[in-house]
Amino acid sequence: MEEKDVVKEFLCYKCQLKIKYDYFGTKPPFAKSIILLEDTYIMKDPFSSEMGMISLGSHCSLCRKSVCSSGDCSIFYTKRFCLSCVQDKIEEFPVEIQQELKNKALRQTSR
Ligand SMILES: [Zn+2]
Ligand SMILES: [Zn+2]
Repeated sequence: MEEKDVVKEFLCYKCQLKIKYDYFGTKPPFAKSIILLEDTYIMKDPFSSEMGMISLGSHCSLCRKSVCSSGDCSIFYTKRFCLSCVQDKIEEFPVEIQQELKNKALRQTSR
């Protein structure tokens, strides 16, 4: 696959966040000591932290859409789930997660 001229862009389907990314996968070549738990969209950022990268998001393990790692769009609970799928299958998640989402919903409606 020839990807040189393709601008690689990450798009969160929930919040429409759109950012160029440098790498997608679990082992970013520019951060050798890091192995990620999930395939992740990564942007190089030498100034952000000692890791030199920012993780932008990943794919929801249920609907496979790309979601950013913001708590308003997805959660990581053994795998990545977008909040829409979590809401669809809320009874399959542990009480802590259900509670967390309820709190989020309350915060959003009271804004
Ligand atoms: Zn998002
Ligand atoms: Zn989903």
